[in-house]
Amino acid sequence: MTVNLPATVSDILLDIEGTTSSIRFVVEVMFPYAREHVAEYLQAHWNEPAVQAAVDKLARDVGQPDALTWLGELNAEHERQGRVVAAVQQLMDRDAKVTGLKELQGLIWDRGFTSGQMVAHLYPDVLPAIEAWRSSGRRVWIYSSGSIAAQRLFFGHTTAGDLLNRFSGHFDTTSGGKKEPASYQRIALAIGAPPANILFVSDIADELHAASQAGMLTALSVRPENQPQPAGHGFGEIRSFAELAQA
Ligand SMILES: [Mg+2]
Repeated sequence: MTVNLPATVSDILLDIEGTTSSIRFVVEVMFPYAREHVAEYLQAHWNEPAVQAAVDKLARDVGQPDALTWLGELNAEHERQGRVVAAVQQLMDRDAKVTGLKELQGLIWDRGFTSGQMVAHLYPDVLPAIEAWRSSGRRVWIYSSGSIAAQRLFFGHTTAGDLLNRFSGHFDTTSGGKKEPASYQRIALAIGAPPANILFVSDIADELHAASQAGMLTALSVRPENQPQPAGHGFGEIRSFAELAQA
């Protein structure tokens, strides 16, 4: 079943992972990149305030009051860095969603994207659809659980180039969780359009359910790498953005 794009749709709200881009990119490229580069990154940037701030938070992630208490007993800088590297590996092994780790990963990814060592994946149908929507006067927005800073880094360095100027704005979990209807009401208010004029595209049926409860139109993104969604979810499915045919 394809999804018609009614003329009343003024705004399109896009999820990232499983929608504009492969979920495999994060798992198979971004996380391994952080893991492989953390040691050399710390060595090169150890004394920068942003790195020290992240290490201080990482100390709390591992149950220490601060970086000084955690690392102060180690005399050599390389030993302190070694302890931080080991902590990062362990936290990543158990997929911990903790502040210091996320912050340090963000710094390493920033370096990876801006240096061109990492290029964000984008399905080939995404940019042509965005251009078509924009030329019909529609606005395009992003809503992802990744931070707005991470979203901007991602879309600033994609396989189709820097796409940041195509988007009217970004939303993350500071607007609320993606499975909560209230988040979509907040986003509609921020966009300044009635929910009925907004189409939300995501690979997760529960997110579409929340958006639909808030009054938005929805389309389920079905990409080869995505998790199958519960049978009978009832949402219109697209396998390419080209299927969001303009009525
Ligand atoms: Mg997704």
